[in-house]
Amino acid sequence: MLKRIGKFFDRSSSKNNDDNHRVLHPHEHSLNPKKICKHACEIIRVLQRNNFEAYVVGGCVRDLLLDLNPKDFDIATNATPQQVKRLFRRSRIIGRRFQIVHVQFGRELIEVTTFRSNNTNQNGKVQQSASGVLTRDNMFGSLLDDASRRDLSINALYYDTEKNTLHDFCDGLEDLAKRKIRIIGNPATRYSEDPARLLRAVRFAAKLGFHIDSKSLKPITKMADSLQHVSAPRMFDETLKLFMSGYGLAVFQLLYEYRLFAQLAPQTNRLIDQGHPTAKNMVEQALTNTDLRIRSNKRVTPAFIYAALLWPSVQKTAAEYERQGHPAASAMGKAANEVIGNQIPITSIPRRFTMAMREIWAMQLTLVKRDGNRASRSIENPRFRAAYDFILLREQTGESLNGLGDWWTRYQDVSEDERQNMVQKLNTGKPRKRRPRRRPQSSNNA
Ligand code: ATP
Ligand code: MG
Repeated sequence: MLKRIGKFFDRSSSKNNDDNHRVLHPHEHSLNPKKICKHACEIIRVLQRNNFEAYVVGGCVRDLLLDLNPKDFDIATNATPQQVKRLFRRSRIIGRRFQIVHVQFGRELIEVTTFRSNNTNQNGKVQQSASGVLTRDNMFGSLLDDASRRDLSINALYYDTEKNTLHDFCDGLEDLAKRKIRIIGNPATRYSEDPARLLRAVRFAAKLGFHIDSKSLKPITKMADSLQHVSAPRMFDETLKLFMSGYGLAVFQLLYEYRLFAQLAPQTNRLIDQGHPTAKNMVEQALTNTDLRIRSNKRVTPAFIYAALLWPSVQKTAAEYERQGHPAASAMGKAANEVIGNQIPITSIPRRFTMAMREIWAMQLTLVKRDGNRASRSIENPRFRAAYDFILLREQTGESLNGLGDWWTRYQDVSEDERQNMVQKLNTGKPRKRRPRRRPQSSNNA
């Protein structure tokens, strides 16, 4: 593959003299236009026929060059959102700060974005807050501006499906061949403009198995605390991309190594740093299972991942409340409130997920109690499956639960009669005490 990409930055390819713009013609690259979604090609055709520039850009070009399946096809153009909208009947302008257009084809949505530049005021200065975060990022720009404001060199490749030409402004092809994650421009400046780029650098390194270029790597740990400037809703979205895209374990290991995890989940991170016996295992095992589920097209939910991520803190806090004399269920409820309350200002987990997390945690207690008709009631609970999976996960990470997971696995497999036997047998350790039968008193003793 290295050889194949190597061909892309063949020195013979044309280079514009005033910038680093390299154009690769059809014989110089092996991108196959047939691999591009036909709706994206159609949009580009229509835009170009109307004298606009238009390209597919970003993740899809990168992934196709690496023989991976692109998640989606994004289009960049010099047409304004209004101009794009006029050309496509089924399209909608979305976003307030920076408008983009969604063009709909059946159930598929394609995003069309107008070339952007880093916004500058009249003095030519980029508009930023005191911390360096870009406060306005909504100016239209040229193709070159658009490439320079992207995050990574490998994400700034543009493909013209009509002319079958590939455009590289930031040596992205060279970095692809060298398997390198490199921030465009000055890394410290680009991270402070948008600290979420710290997470993006790590995410793509993990996803692609690339190394982070030393200049892009150096500021990461030092700047980790600038993630505090990213809004909590955006941070929640970013954590989903980090942990729910099929390579969560690799992402976590890099996040932990570069101290970014300390910003994302400080409560868990503290326990890991303190050498908690199962905290790190819990996160790693939960993400290993999640990666496997994603690979086999099974459903994954942020509720389960966050339940696992925060479990070591919940368990520890609940134990403290129990020591203070609270009954187990109330201690668990108080711990859940406290731990979720500390996490929400960092990643605002929507309520539907925090409710599910609380239920999964509460059921860790109810699933222990299986006598009478408790087991048959628990199995009917809509949250049973997640709570049962959570028990298996806890056992996988080294918690000792007295064979609780196996018991529930078997309980789900057997007949109703056998279920009753299983419940009865729970008591065989301490055989049920029979009340001594009272003898009818003889009238003689009266
Ligand atoms: P994925 O396969 O995860 O979708 P992607 O590269 O397409 O990868 P997106 O988040 O969909 O990532 O973003 C699309 C493109 O927008 C990126 O390739 C990059 O060029 C640009 N981009 C996204 N986020 C940023 C950012 N924070 N700063 C600069 N450029 C960004
Ligand atoms: Mg994308």
